[in-house]
Amino acid sequence: MTTKQLQEEILTLKKKNDVVILAHYYQPIEIQEIADFLGDSLGLSRTAKEKVNSEYIIFAGVDFMAETASILNPNKHVLIPNPESCCPMAAFLTPEMVRQFKEIHPSLPTIVYVNSTAAVKAEADICCTSANAVKIVEKISHEFDVNSVLFGPDANLADYAEQISKIKTIKMPDEGHCYVHSQITIEDIKAVKEKYPKAKLIVHPECIRQVRDLSDYVGSTTRMYNYVKENSAKINEFIIGTEVGLLERLIQDFPDKNFNLAKEKLVCYNMKKHNLELIKYLLENLDDKAFEVKVPPEIANKAIKPIEKMLEFS
Ligand code: SF4
Repeated sequence: MTTKQLQEEILTLKKKNDVVILAHYYQPIEIQEIADFLGDSLGLSRTAKEKVNSEYIIFAGVDFMAETASILNPNKHVLIPNPESCCPMAAFLTPEMVRQFKEIHPSLPTIVYVNSTAAVKAEADICCTSANAVKIVEKISHEFDVNSVLFGPDANLADYAEQISKIKTIKMPDEGHCYVHSQITIEDIKAVKEKYPKAKLIVHPECIRQVRDLSDYVGSTTRMYNYVKENSAKINEFIIGTEVGLLERLIQDFPDKNFNLAKEKLVCYNMKKHNLELIKYLLENLDDKAFEVKVPPEIANKAIKPIEKMLEFS
């Protein structure tokens, strides 16, 4: 069966069973093409809460995203095509570690990036995404009347929020990072800029500070997409410093522009664990519990508070 035939079957099954498919920008392009909603973590969290009326949601993203959708929709069935699709960054921070940081800094607010487990979110005052991290740091520090915050697990995003807001972020832990974005080095940037001297360099805030400082624009995946959209009339060439899935989306949506990746192989292998066959299987077996994402109520009831506070604040 060709990709096109498989996609058509999925669209028919999706409609017949009234299922909504949410997909992250880092998904393989053939999955992006059959999604009802495409977005980054913040956009998909909002969509999961505000726009989904179907009983079943198929979430093509990593596990923490599906968990968040499930927490926000406790009466719906959230299914993940491959339950092994997880975010290694989330493993940098455990609930015990958060409790230890809180014990050392009892007066500081705790901000947890959505790229974390539900149990870690349950320990936080508020969540954030790469799209709203600066705003969340500013607002929560104002609410607590402090000049420092606890922030985890991504030390690079924490550093970015600190750089822009001028509010100190205590990293939980110092070494938390995304292996996709943090692998981009200054040498990579110098080489790619030399190759494409007229291109605008746009990067994700999970990149290291030295890389961010060399870029023309820093933003979440949706903001990077919007930057291209807003500037496409006057700029012809872009260097993209994030996962290859966004590059594929941009090439499809802006076919007359030139896009280059900041370095080869910027691939999140965890995001690529889903495929069309698995999605078709799910649509034919909606009640297969092996694919349903459920968060224990005692954790979900706590984790929903920082997620909802983030949605209110952003
Ligand atoms: S790109 Fe990085 S942060 Fe995003 S899911 Fe993959 S490993 Fe996690």
